[in-house]
Amino acid sequence: ATMLEVSGLYHRYGGGEGAHLAVNDLTFTVETGELACIVGPSGCGKSTMLRCISGLVKPSGGEVSLQGNRVDGVPEDLAVVFQDYSRSLFPWLTVRQNVEFPLRWRRDISKAERRSRAEEALEWVNLPGVAGKYPWQLSGGMQQRVSIARALARRPALLLMDEPFASVDAQTRFELEDLLRNVQSANGSTVLLVTHDIDESVYLGDRVLVLSKSPATIVADLTVDLPKE
Ligand code: ADP
Ligand code: ADP
Repeated sequence: ATMLEVSGLYHRYGGGEGAHLAVNDLTFTVETGELACIVGPSGCGKSTMLRCISGLVKPSGGEVSLQGNRVDGVPEDLAVVFQDYSRSLFPWLTVRQNVEFPLRWRRDISKAERRSRAEEALEWVNLPGVAGKYPWQLSGGMQQRVSIARALARRPALLLMDEPFASVDAQTRFELEDLLRNVQSANGSTVLLVTHDIDESVYLGDRVLVLSKSPATIVADLTVDLPKE
């Protein structure tokens, strides 16, 4: 089934003389269970595209549908992981409280369920024994693991990731890439990850969509068939 359908998406910042076309006529779909990567040079419009998909920015034109429903506002069953982990976690909350935070507003999830989902998500990202610590007591790579755990604990239909590994050191990046792939295949999650790193896109993706430089438009849609052990 189709998870995400983007059709004729375009976005322009500003108007008149200063108008800047950031995304131009993007059309693609992401199937359920797919790990799709979008790769393109810095400044080509990747973040803008993700903001439009996640409902944070209203696109100038075109349509985005999630599970057949047109996106208008921020959908409940979508989670986003940003590059900048240092600004994404609440410093006054512990790791466990951060991961549980988005679930606190869900009336259908009991306290016990919230707790067990947080524990499970922290295990997925291989973060044992830090639930009681505060983000500032952790390394950057560990903070990004917490951000990923927080997104996964929500069990989103679609996980959007905007350069999630661009701010961590190379060793941590390789670990987190493997971890994402393992969690994704174990849970059959649907992930759309945006990166400027071609190696990363091919290593991670079942599919790689290649964007042109600004304004972003798709120039190739590749199926990757590498052994992923
Ligand atoms: P990428 O994520 O690929 O680096 P962005 O989507 O962040 O690209 O940016 C695409 C283009 O839009 C860039 O030229 C950038 O300067 C411009 N841009 C991004 N955000 C804004 C904004 N809020 N207002 C005006 N221009 C913006
Ligand atoms: P990233 O690509 O890492 O997600 P951003 O989306 O924050 O980075 O910004 C990408 C580019 O867009 C940067 O060059 C930034 O200066 C520019 N930009 C971001 N917000 C604005 C804005 N409100 N007005 C103009 N340019 C912006």
